[in-house]
Amino acid sequence: MQTNKNIAILGAGESGVGAAYLAQQQGFDVFVSDMGVIAPKYKEQLQGWNIRFEEGKHTDDEILAAVEVVKSPGIPEKAPLIKKLKEKGIPVISEIEFAGRYTDAKMVCITGSNGKTTTTTLTYHILKKAGLNVGLAGNIGKSFAYQVATEKFDVYVLEISSFMLDDMYKFKADIAVLLNITPDHLDRYEYKMENYVASKLRITQNQTAGDYFIYCADDAETIKGMEGRSFAAKQLPFSIEKEIPEGACLRNDNIVINVNMENFEMSINDLALQGKHNTYNSMASGLVSKVLELRNPTIRESMMDIQPIEHRLEFIGRISGIKFINDSKATNVNSTWYALESMSSDVVLILGGVDKGNDYSMLTELVKQKVRAIVCLGLDNGRIHDAFEDVVDVIVNTASAAEAAQVAFHLAKKGDTVLLSPACASFDLFKNYEDRGQQFKEAVSQL
Ligand code: ADP
Repeated sequence: MQTNKNIAILGAGESGVGAAYLAQQQGFDVFVSDMGVIAPKYKEQLQGWNIRFEEGKHTDDEILAAVEVVKSPGIPEKAPLIKKLKEKGIPVISEIEFAGRYTDAKMVCITGSNGKTTTTTLTYHILKKAGLNVGLAGNIGKSFAYQVATEKFDVYVLEISSFMLDDMYKFKADIAVLLNITPDHLDRYEYKMENYVASKLRITQNQTAGDYFIYCADDAETIKGMEGRSFAAKQLPFSIEKEIPEGACLRNDNIVINVNMENFEMSINDLALQGKHNTYNSMASGLVSKVLELRNPTIRESMMDIQPIEHRLEFIGRISGIKFINDSKATNVNSTWYALESMSSDVVLILGGVDKGNDYSMLTELVKQKVRAIVCLGLDNGRIHDAFEDVVDVIVNTASAAEAAQVAFHLAKKGDTVLLSPACASFDLFKNYEDRGQQFKEAVSQL
């Protein structure tokens, strides 16, 4: 155990505050620094634990005196302070890298551009139901570091973003899952797709024989990124489009999983989480479960009784024969594509927000087939009008969740679905995607 060494933690959110607690427990002299305002809950925790902190600034002298710095995933590599640290040769690591040193639990690590939360939650649900002593962390719930400091789990299921991966060096996933790679957050990767792909593939770093790498064989960027690289772990691909001898594939609407001579089969009609994207997510979770040698009835039951996950194709209710769905977490075009793809009725689509340079053309075909009208929910809807004016007859601008819900309700016919799946970030009109989804649900309940 290291003692009396200075460690600096940048960012006092869930992960930073958890890392601070663990660092103190491990004998470090801890200093927490946040450029913004620290939420009262976290401030109280730091005060209660007697951990030194500052907000609204970064004091270089304190931070540059650290032997190591734990950085919140929200702080970009380009930030001047991070540059200074790197120049001085002070290691900058993620909370996951830091906390990973203090646990010998088996690590199931899930990354991808879309589907991380869903697959992590489903995997955790199956493992928990199977009776494993399992923890859930990463981008979800209580921080990994805090749990490592306070609990003793045999297995962790971790949701890992590419920003976290960028600051992970020695950490190893025993079971790595890469769901898909589509353009997202490219501003953090010098607008180079290959940099983003390389970051995602770091989920396999340090793996050795005996470990597993689960990935989607239908995902062009993943397959291209894997070319020319070697992987020490056993590879388990999953696919809807092709037969997979060892891994998972779809046969006659059945998910078929084959791992280490063990089989699992289940009809996609029995899955609680519906839609093509959830078939992929369920294959990934099923593969993890079979690697861990869980019993088939447990896997099947868990896949049938998992509760819908809030803001992700969440069914809100039915009014006058019109179904309302909240998919506020769809913050890029790809997730909206999957949402539309899974719709079996005509749709009034609520779209818009902060556009991160979206290419809407991949939606054209599905919009043509399924969308009756588009309700724009954003400050600047010009690009949506440009993309769809020749595809749908009705495109209406709205500027609040309540207005969008009302307008959509009037445009919808009996049997239709009103789908909030914005393909955009929410910061123009809302605090975050949860706020957008919450306000939409509230508005629907008022109709
Ligand atoms: P993440 O945690 O990676 O952001 P979520 O599970 O929260 O992913 O889902 C985000 C959005 O992406 C939701 O709108 C959901 O409908 C859609 N989605 C979920 N899984 C997938 C997938 N495998 N491929 C594409 N889109 C998906």
